[in-house]
Amino acid sequence: METDKPLLAIRNLSYFYGDIQALFRVNLTVCEGQIVSVVGPNGSGKTTLMKAVAGLLRPVLGEIRYQGERIQDLPVHKVVRRGLVYVPEGMKTFPLMSVMENLEVGAYISRQQKEGRLDFVFNLFPVLADKRLQLAKNLSGGQKRMLILARGIMSGARLLMLDDPFLGLAPKDINRLCNTLRQIRSHGYTLFLAGQHVRRILSVATRAYLLEEGRITLSGSGDQLRDHPHLQESLYGIVAEAG
Ligand code: ATP
Repeated sequence: METDKPLLAIRNLSYFYGDIQALFRVNLTVCEGQIVSVVGPNGSGKTTLMKAVAGLLRPVLGEIRYQGERIQDLPVHKVVRRGLVYVPEGMKTFPLMSVMENLEVGAYISRQQKEGRLDFVFNLFPVLADKRLQLAKNLSGGQKRMLILARGIMSGARLLMLDDPFLGLAPKDINRLCNTLRQIRSHGYTLFLAGQHVRRILSVATRAYLLEEGRITLSGSGDQLRDHPHLQESLYGIVAEAG
C-alpha cells in the first residue's frame, strides 16, 4: 500500500511574512500511502508549511510538486481540485446545517464518485450515518471532528493535510481518531499531519520530521524520532546524559 512514489515533494521551500522568514529551504517528501507527521515547538512553522502547500500563502520560494506537477504558484481552489485538502487547526462545522448538508457542502467541489465517498465516510463513522439529519451543532466534540474529516474526504481528497487534528479532544476520542487515521490510510489515502500532541502524531506516522525555527532538523520513522535525544531536548528540554 505504501509506495516510494512521491505524491508531494517540497524542495528548498522558504516563506517570508514581510521581513520575517518563517521557513528556511525546507525539504520534505510525502509518498503515496504514507502518514507523514511534522512535529516541532510552538512557532516553528508547521502551520506555515501546511498553508504554503495548500495555496494559502503566496508567493513562496522553492518548489512544491504534487503528483509531479509544480503547484507552488497555484491558488487554493486549484490546489483543492487536484485532491490536496487542508483541514486547519480548529476548523468548524456549519452548526445550523444537518450532518448530511455539511457533507454535501464538502462534495460540491468534486461531485464525481460522490455516492461512493458518502458510503465510505458513513462506513468509517457510523455515528454520522445515524445522525445524518441532526444539526451539526448538536454533535459532541469528537463527532464534530469526525464530521470535519468526513467533509474533507467528501471534497475528493487524495492527500489530507490535518493541522493539529487532536486539539481539544478527550483522550478516548484521540485514541479513536488515531485508529480512524490508520483506517483512512488503509483505504488508499495519504495523510500529512502536524501538531502538538507529539507522541500521538508520531505514533501514527510512517515517516516523521522535526521542524525547528523554520528548518527541518531531523527525519526518520515515527519511532526513531520519538526516541531521538535531540527531539527530547527540543520539545521537552530533556538533555541526554553523556556516556
Ligand atoms: P504552533 O504550533 O504554535 O501553531 P507553528 O509551528 O504552526 O506554531 P507558525 O504558526 O507556522 O508555527 O509560525 C511560524 C513563525 O511565523 C512564528 O515565528 C510566527 O510568529 C510567524 N508568523 C505566523 N503567522 C504570521 C503572520 N501572519 N505574520 C507574521 N508572522 C507570522
